[in-house]
Amino acid sequence: MASDVAARGAAFEIRAVVLREPGRPVEVETVFLQPPRRGEVLVRVAAAGVCHSDLHLADGELGEGRWPMVLGHEGAGVVEAVGEEVGDVRPGDHVGFCFVPACGACRACRAGRRTLCETAARNSVAGMLMDGTSRLRALDGTVLQHGLMVACFADHAVVPAAGAVPLPTSVPLWQAALLGCGVVTGIGAVNRAGLRVGASVCVIGCGGVGLQVIAGARLAGARTIVAVDTDEGKLSLARGRGATHAVLAGGGRSVVGEVLAITGGGVEHAFEVVGRAATIRQAWDVLAPGGTATVVGLAPHGVEVCLPAIEFLSEKTITGSYYGSTDVHAALGQLVELVVDGRLDLGDVVSDLIRLDDVELALERLRRGQGARSVVVIDEKLAGVGP
Ligand SMILES: [Zn+2]
Ligand SMILES: [Zn+2]
Repeated sequence: MASDVAARGAAFEIRAVVLREPGRPVEVETVFLQPPRRGEVLVRVAAAGVCHSDLHLADGELGEGRWPMVLGHEGAGVVEAVGEEVGDVRPGDHVGFCFVPACGACRACRAGRRTLCETAARNSVAGMLMDGTSRLRALDGTVLQHGLMVACFADHAVVPAAGAVPLPTSVPLWQAALLGCGVVTGIGAVNRAGLRVGASVCVIGCGGVGLQVIAGARLAGARTIVAVDTDEGKLSLARGRGATHAVLAGGGRSVVGEVLAITGGGVEHAFEVVGRAATIRQAWDVLAPGGTATVVGLAPHGVEVCLPAIEFLSEKTITGSYYGSTDVHAALGQLVELVVDGRLDLGDVVSDLIRLDDVELALERLRRGQGARSVVVIDEKLAGVGP
């Protein structure tokens, strides 16, 4: 048992999906995980979602030096052991991962903008935990980075205690796995935009996060929700989550023209959930005067966006939302209650349940824009999908 080894303080072997370098397929390797130190917890991972940010990392689009790395940042599991000075969680607790374990002390945290925590950002970009070091080693001793301070494409993960949010056991972990990235990012962006009941909304990109934006818009009382995607399957999932209209993008069709026609001149809120210059521009172009575009999609380093400056006179706004722009711990607690109450379905966005060995295939599907969310089931029984 990993927990016995952890208690003795020795590193133990785990199976983990390792990105050796961009352009090379990711592979499952046996690697060493050191036990949790002060303020850290060891989690047995049940399930993990494959997110577009994993693909950006795998393709080297988030900057140099972010490898070798154990990937995965959206997941859930059960706490196996805790380090010193951990009070919020104990062994046996179900937890969802939070990839910005806010320090509570930096300028951003003190200003209440915890998803912008400076300490977490610095260590996350370096692939290290909050003390600036890694618990992961390859078998030859090479230091491995923790993907977004979570590294949950693995059977075990050591994360900062603030990166493990307690969840009720009533929600199966293969569904709870989605809470800590896709759900909080999507629904948080809707909260940040401050939708009014009856609002008109356009959501560009209906993958794992976009579908949550649509669910959030429905919960917030939007009247018109136009979903845009290049994939018919994702548009049909979008309709199931509350989209009132669906626009198929690509093939030379005018997305902007169609959205303007459907909405009689544009929407109050557009959400861009792709991370490309062209779709960010579309989010701007589908706005009615006075409307707000919120960019949620993660664009690769170096991407720039052009906007027609005269349209600032029509009081349009463009802004961004990172990780739901919220206190993720509080938000996860509220969102999971919606799931328990049956008001938010998590399973309906999952297009594929896969094994750890198939993460590269899931990344390939994301590259092609196919499927909504693949969830890696690492422990069937723990995840709640097995017999
Ligand atoms: Zn993500
Ligand atoms: Zn901070």
